[in-house]
Amino acid sequence: MDNNILILGAGPAGMSAASRLLSNGVNFSVVEKENIIGGLAKTIQYGPFSLDVGPHILCTKPYVYDYNEKMYRFIEDLLGDKLIHYETLNRKYLETVRVGEDAFDYPIQIKNALQNVGFLSALHMVYDYLGAKSQSPHNSNGNTSFEQVITTQLGRSLADLFILKYSEKTWGLKCSDLSSDLAWRVGEFSIMDVLIGQISNFGKNLRSQSGHPVCYPEMGIGLICEQIKANIEKANIGEVKTDSYPVRILHDNGRIHEVVVCEKGTIQSYHPNYVLSSIPIGQLIQLLDPKPPVEIIDSVLNLKHRSHLCLYLIVNKCRVLREHCIYYPDPEIPFARLMEQKNYNQNTCPDDMTALAVEFFCWYEDDLWNKDDSGLFRIAIPKLEELGIVKEGDVVDYFVHRERYAYPVYDLGYADRLRTVMAYLGGLKNLKLIGRSGTFTYMDQYRAMEAGSNAADEIVSEFTKESGGGLA
Ligand SMILES: Cc1cc2nc3c(=O)[nH]c(=O)nc-3n(C[C@H](O)[C@H](O)[C@H](O)COP(=O)(O)OP(=O)(O)OC[C@H]3O[C@@H](n4cnc5c(N)ncnc54)[C@H](O)[C@@H]3O)c2cc1C
Repeated sequence: MDNNILILGAGPAGMSAASRLLSNGVNFSVVEKENIIGGLAKTIQYGPFSLDVGPHILCTKPYVYDYNEKMYRFIEDLLGDKLIHYETLNRKYLETVRVGEDAFDYPIQIKNALQNVGFLSALHMVYDYLGAKSQSPHNSNGNTSFEQVITTQLGRSLADLFILKYSEKTWGLKCSDLSSDLAWRVGEFSIMDVLIGQISNFGKNLRSQSGHPVCYPEMGIGLICEQIKANIEKANIGEVKTDSYPVRILHDNGRIHEVVVCEKGTIQSYHPNYVLSSIPIGQLIQLLDPKPPVEIIDSVLNLKHRSHLCLYLIVNKCRVLREHCIYYPDPEIPFARLMEQKNYNQNTCPDDMTALAVEFFCWYEDDLWNKDDSGLFRIAIPKLEELGIVKEGDVVDYFVHRERYAYPVYDLGYADRLRTVMAYLGGLKNLKLIGRSGTFTYMDQYRAMEAGSNAADEIVSEFTKESGGGLA
């Protein structure tokens, strides 16, 4: 048996799967539609600047909510001393939320929030919190919205302060129309643990500084996928093909038997034992031949993605921000977040210059998406000047990077639609869905990598059983 695996998409999920297959000596091909690998976690080279698609960072300690021991160790082994640990650099990873003149730590630090809002508002927050705790987050119909869960968890005034506003900016929907499945991102904490002691000691020792233990690959997050690709090329097992994408997926009797791929303009046919797909689930469904029933296509078309625009400003200054990134929940501010690439690692920019990523969330082909680079620059720059971040005269160059499938949108009906689609795709026995858009799951990089890695391990163990112990 020719153990050939076809992996669709060379983002963290697809490349982690490839890495596991490589370790087990199983042959594979990765096809990637772009000319650069890494997906949302790629690093774009722009002259001497190495630029990530918005802020990308990886946690290194179990108490941080998205930490993943297995994938962290994998990345450590993969990158060795090319992985920078902020703790050893004695530097904190700083994220803040700007509300008017105030800067709040992110993720939320109760101490810091109370310090910033003032004594009376802090008392109000406690009152709201206690009131919210006595209510159930569930509707009588059992449908729970993101807004209900967050207000029960934090109390209305703390939730309103920035979580709800920022979420509406990110997702483009009211929080009452978003599913409670999004609430994991906010993290669990108990306000009670800190409030009682702090209200009585208000003003003393309340200054806290956000920052959690993180690591970052030198020269950008894309180094993770690039290093896997370099290992593949060195070992001479498997291949990664860019500018390549599937155009037709033929299936019969519950199995995919052929995938037609356009490779740099040339049509090639694959007859894989397994297909691992990390491409957007809607694209995958539409490539199937024969086509799925109309209700499956309808369901998948109603799974929406939020798009992301990154306006990179090349600035003629050594540094602009103190923080790594700043969140702007205020709906009057046209962008959602700023991040300064150089603060992740100074070698990503020349010494005397810096790069600022101005992030916008939008819908595919809405007015914002359709703006050309200068149109987006014209929207951003007056606000950046007003906020005192950067002056137009200091910007020597700019360009926009667009990602259509950046965030799977969990609206209230998404879970039922996704179940319908998954049940159909589950009928294709040699297909495994992996990663963020591949499974329509709002997951971070560790989880995407783990999904790819686990799927590859399952295939390897199946092949091992079939061959009676050793791989062909
Ligand atoms: C702005 C932003 C900030 C983030 N910050 C963090 C962070 O700080 N920490 C963290 O852990 N995670 C972060 N993430 C999430 C992280 O980027 C993703 O979880 C991760 O990239 C998902 O990997 P993936 O391989 O599943 O999908 P993707 O990265 O989306 O990769 C999918 C790949 O498939 C390719 N593809 C798509 N369609 C086709 C096709 N038809 N044919 C062939 N190839 C195709 C794409 O080009 C892409 O290369 C962030 C995401 C965004 C958008």
